[in-house]
Amino acid sequence: MPEEDGVGYGAGLESRTRCHPIRVLVLYDDSALAFDPNIVATSRRVVTGVNDILRVSGAFSSQVSFQVANVLPFNINQTGDPENDRDFMETNNTVSDLRTTNAADLILYFVNASWGGVLGIANLAEDGTRVVAMVDASVILTRVSAHELGHLLSCRHESAADPTGPFEHAYDFKTGCKPFRSDRNTIMWSALTNNVINRFSNPLRTYKDEPYGTTVEDNVRQLRARGCAVASYDDNNGPPIVTAFIDGPDLLCACTQDDLTVQVSCPPGLPLTFEWRQSSDGINYGPVYGTSETVSVSAPCVEGEIFWYRVQIFDANGQLLTTSVKSIMANPFWVPGPNACQQLILSREERFQRFFPAVSSGVFTLELNDLKLSDELVFTVTSSSGASFVSNQSVDPGSQHTFQFNFSDLLPGMYLLTSQRTKPVKFIKL
Ligand SMILES: [Zn+2]
Repeated sequence: MPEEDGVGYGAGLESRTRCHPIRVLVLYDDSALAFDPNIVATSRRVVTGVNDILRVSGAFSSQVSFQVANVLPFNINQTGDPENDRDFMETNNTVSDLRTTNAADLILYFVNASWGGVLGIANLAEDGTRVVAMVDASVILTRVSAHELGHLLSCRHESAADPTGPFEHAYDFKTGCKPFRSDRNTIMWSALTNNVINRFSNPLRTYKDEPYGTTVEDNVRQLRARGCAVASYDDNNGPPIVTAFIDGPDLLCACTQDDLTVQVSCPPGLPLTFEWRQSSDGINYGPVYGTSETVSVSAPCVEGEIFWYRVQIFDANGQLLTTSVKSIMANPFWVPGPNACQQLILSREERFQRFFPAVSSGVFTLELNDLKLSDELVFTVTSSSGASFVSNQSVDPGSQHTFQFNFSDLLPGMYLLTSQRTKPVKFIKL
């Protein structure tokens, strides 16, 4: 499996190449504090949320990850012109000193601004000379912060708004079926609308079954390429570097359980604490459910669905040192052999069907939960060449709605099992 690309569900396939986290000094002014009295806690939550957006977009924590260096009050005389204020911050000596003192690479500055529709601003950074992102504290902070920090890692808007650059653009696509088809834009889109999703463009990932990038619209490629360089802006990288990688399966049979273990690399003797959380979308995580290095996890009960697991690792002072994320998909494929899922849920409809293959004996068991319907069913097996015959099923004597099929005399190949009442009601690929 590719370690570097993490195609599709494989968010757990993180690169073993390790970059330092990008340390972010969060500053806020009096207006931001007045708008949000909990701005310090909010700041930490925003940086965590930006990391979640990176992870769910397929940018690995080993390559690009943000860490809060500090959260401090700081005031300037706002001019009302965001470009003026940003340039002032970029060149102000006090800001520069704070950045050095806190061993920070980037600065995220929250103000409650009146910028005439501009929600945030940052230069496209190419060489480490541009390090400030300013964000209006009254907007959707995490999404706008992710967008502005993206600029500091050289991510660009959509090509229509910024034709410069070969590939590092936002992407526009559609999901769903007509007449409910929805327009979607990835997070570097030039305007914040309801169409913007919490994803950086990435052609290797899907959102509602649609890839959200192309070879020329791939912000994640840029993020992964720039993460190490931006993290090295400040040479004194603060606390000890702790890296983590979650070991465990990428695929599990539906509804089954397994263990995940986080492998931590850190200086010896460093006391660590762990917080595991689970999410169904990679963005919204539930409460802490595990605090040791290993947790038991349950696969989703519908094939093809994905759960996300996130472990945050803290030092004894509660400082977040690193985060690792892994996704697990309920195996949508039935692959005969010793690793086959022993239970295949074939239908989510009211006639709940489960299929238990016993590959070595050739005997398969089909379980229906509809007694009346099962009494009326006739089963037909069709080979890939079109030959069909009524199958030799027998009713399990222990149950009125469980059928057993003996396929041991069939040649290996692909067969369709048809369950039929007055008309075909279900085709099952074997
Ligand atoms: Zn922008």
